[in-house]
Amino acid sequence: MAVDSQLSSPLGPPACDKDSKALLFIEEMTRKADAVQERVLGEILLRNAKTEYLRRFQLNGATDRDTFKSKIPVVSYEDLLPDIQRIANGDRSSIFSAHPISEFLTSSATSAGESKLMPTIHEELDRRQLLYSLLMPVMNLYVSGLDKGKGLYFLFVKAETKTPGGLLARPVLTSYYKSEHFKTRPYDPYNVYTSPNEAILCADSFQSMYTQMLCGLLMREEVLRVGAVFASGLLRAIRFLQLHWQQLAHDISAGALNPKITDPALRDCMSKIIVKPNPELSKFITQECSGENWEGIITRIWPNTKYLDVIVTGAMAQYIPTLEYYGGGLPLSCTMYASSECYFGLNLKPMSNPSEVSYTIMPNMCYCEFLPHEPDAPAVSRDSPPPLVDLADVEVGKQYELIITTYAGLCRYRVGDILQVTDFYNSAPQFRFIRRKNVLLSIDSDKTDEAELQKAGDNASALLQEFNTSVVEYTSYADAKSIPGHYVIYWELLVKEPANPPTHEVLNLCCLAMEESLNSVYRQIRVADNSIGPLEIRVVKNGTFEELMDYAISRGASINQYKVPRCVNSSPIVEFLDSRVTSKHFSPAPPQWNSERR
Ligand code: AMP
Repeated sequence: MAVDSQLSSPLGPPACDKDSKALLFIEEMTRKADAVQERVLGEILLRNAKTEYLRRFQLNGATDRDTFKSKIPVVSYEDLLPDIQRIANGDRSSIFSAHPISEFLTSSATSAGESKLMPTIHEELDRRQLLYSLLMPVMNLYVSGLDKGKGLYFLFVKAETKTPGGLLARPVLTSYYKSEHFKTRPYDPYNVYTSPNEAILCADSFQSMYTQMLCGLLMREEVLRVGAVFASGLLRAIRFLQLHWQQLAHDISAGALNPKITDPALRDCMSKIIVKPNPELSKFITQECSGENWEGIITRIWPNTKYLDVIVTGAMAQYIPTLEYYGGGLPLSCTMYASSECYFGLNLKPMSNPSEVSYTIMPNMCYCEFLPHEPDAPAVSRDSPPPLVDLADVEVGKQYELIITTYAGLCRYRVGDILQVTDFYNSAPQFRFIRRKNVLLSIDSDKTDEAELQKAGDNASALLQEFNTSVVEYTSYADAKSIPGHYVIYWELLVKEPANPPTHEVLNLCCLAMEESLNSVYRQIRVADNSIGPLEIRVVKNGTFEELMDYAISRGASINQYKVPRCVNSSPIVEFLDSRVTSKHFSPAPPQWNSERR
């Protein structure tokens, strides 16, 4: 389609009129980053001027940055918890936001082991949709012809609960997929999915995955991109294909749907998709999937795929080698950076190598401040306001912790992400995601910190007391090579009565005890989603951790400051630990999880 040249964008020639509007929007926002940030803060403070939270800090209706920064403290989730609990228990007064709280978005766990409850307002859906609407116009600058086929995206909803006060609590993507914004989205040739809404919205994860995979297989030649939100989701889909290709091939050859798909809306919709037997396709699937070699399976089954659309930055980087193996070297594209609290920005070069990905924060999404992050600096004192830097003032090369103020009413809230400035696009900085603070282990959207791991280890090792045995040292490893990935804990034991060592069964139960102590997000993913495998304890020989210290010192660590790493991820260290393993133990059963909040 011809595009008005006046609407052409410095990012590149847009693919269609709609794209040119989106690209110009990015242009405008990034050129005026500081002015947009000032406007956003002003709007947030004006609308929320009468909220209890802003009044508590005597903002007195001020909407300027200086007053805001001088009066409002920087906070973490735990600081807000008492107010959040009031909302969860039914207090409908304007605590954080002048707009009614529409629901809670659940995300990574807190120190209390429960998932966080982030209050949100209905209007945030518009902002999320706006960010989504910018992704394809940017992608179209790099990959042509995406309107000539479909995207095979494995998207899922998860269980939702209600708080005692009656508000829904669910993950942000579940909220988005269930919204009218998603369900009744207008037709867009660049955004056609193989998965029907009924499959995405089916709460039963087997039925949802089965039908999404079946649609992907039936439409295999139309598929131009394959993706999931995070890398772990796409690998889960491949694992599913490994386990269920026979049933899928059977359905395709019979032209009939597996009776295990019982959801009436889903059956009805699938009856329009799987209309007649296709023995040839069934034979093809059988031929590709029955072999031992799954290398490049994605390109073999979906030969027109141009790229894999999955986030592999941050904790998901551990999956890159596996995705490269199954993807036969297809480019991996990381398109956006977002959280339950707010969606932040997008990658303006979506085909760049994962190690070079930078996200441009869109200044219209929320008001952002940056706490300079120097890994060795002392903790920030609460009495002296930290020297926060505005979005437009961050410096290339420096690392910062992201602090946000949102339309939903979070004020100067620490997201917990450490970002490094790589460059600027116009006057908007671009950030490489460095890591999440305090997260040791992550397989899917679970995030386990050091304190939790320590507590889980303490609870589990209590089972060893009757064997007069204790854990002298431990470390951990997120094993992403198996699908699903799982937590591995290395234990060095002190067995005081060698004639009565802990039994294999007890060590298995220690695995389960650790899982029972981990947070509810972990247990949900493990139990309801099956996206984390059973936790494993690997017992290592006596003296292993001393050898590990010698190794670290030989590589330059200071002997005085050496601390046992509570998580290891470099392959030589993992190989070293594995070479000292004397026994391996797995959780014999899934941990307790129920959808009720305690
Ligand atoms: P949640 O609050 O559970 O929705 O998770 C949001 C968090 O996921 C962010 O704060 C980041 O730590 C992480 N995350 C989201 N998008 C990305 C990305 N593109 N790259 C790396 N980490 C990300």
